[in-house]
Amino acid sequence: MSTNDPDCLFCKIIAGDIPSSKVYEDEQVYAFKDINPKAKVHVLVVPKVHYANVAELAEKDPALLAHVVQIAQKIADEQADGTFRLIFNTGRNAGQSVFHVHAHVLTGEVLPE
Ligand code: 5GP
Ligand code: ZN
Repeated sequence: MSTNDPDCLFCKIIAGDIPSSKVYEDEQVYAFKDINPKAKVHVLVVPKVHYANVAELAEKDPALLAHVVQIAQKIADEQADGTFRLIFNTGRNAGQSVFHVHAHVLTGEVLPE
């Protein structure tokens, strides 16, 4: 398990130092319920290695990015009808508030446009 930034909220969640509602875990990713859900199902899929954002993840480990997408599909299959919206806020002005890459998986209802 990689926890490479001691000041990072999601590194602390992955390490179990801050409690979270786990949805899925394997060697590469940890997925948990968003504390402030924007849809009936709102799960964050987080690589265990600390990358700041999705662009850095794509550059340094594209296979891990593909894995994140596959886990999003698995969660949508298990918790909803297999459809989902995947959001990577990238940069503060785009709404990113935690600078450890995470995919927002939104599903479980008909989502607004
Ligand atoms: P961002 O704004 O960086 O795209 O997304 C960060 C997300 O993390 C937000 O949707 C926010 O609700 C969620 N979040 C922030 N702190 C916590 C926490 O302590 N626990 C959980 N489960 N989610 C959190
Ligand atoms: Zn981190």
